[in-house]
Amino acid sequence: MPIENTLSIIKPDATKRNLTGLINAKFEKAGLKIIAQKRLQLSEDMAQKFYEVHKDRPFYNDLVSFMTSGPVVVQVLSGNNAVKLNRDIMGATNPEEADAGTIRKEFAESIEANSVHGSDSLENANLEIAFFFAAVELFS
Ligand code: ADP
Ligand code: MG
Repeated sequence: MPIENTLSIIKPDATKRNLTGLINAKFEKAGLKIIAQKRLQLSEDMAQKFYEVHKDRPFYNDLVSFMTSGPVVVQVLSGNNAVKLNRDIMGATNPEEADAGTIRKEFAESIEANSVHGSDSLENANLEIAFFFAAVELFS
């Protein structure tokens, strides 16, 4: 299986509740390696750009407010099939539809405050990693 890199974000609802370690334990237990990581406060401009694909959705402005409401942890996860594996560990967008044992089932507060972001394709993973990290910041 191909080694892939994917972008993961631990969202403000989770950093506020001190869940960074419990969430990352799930990624590491599944074999994903954290090869880059930083904690930062997103500006409104960054959050708008990051979620630009959703700009016409009714929840866009709320989503930008939520993502700037506290610190986030942005990180690069690496491993076999990392894009899909990360999405599987995260669970469905709506925690009510997420499978047992997934991050969103266990920790999400709502469909918006759902604790984690994960890239949805390899192409988007590369774009999203470049949005937050310089190539020299990735451990290889
Ligand atoms: P995912 O994060 O699972 O890839 P999307 O890309 O569809 O989901 O949406 C991006 C983020 O926007 C979600 O993770 C969630 O925080 C928020 N969101 C999605 N759908 C809704 C909704 N119906 N109401 C409020 N927030 C939403
Ligand atoms: Mg998405």
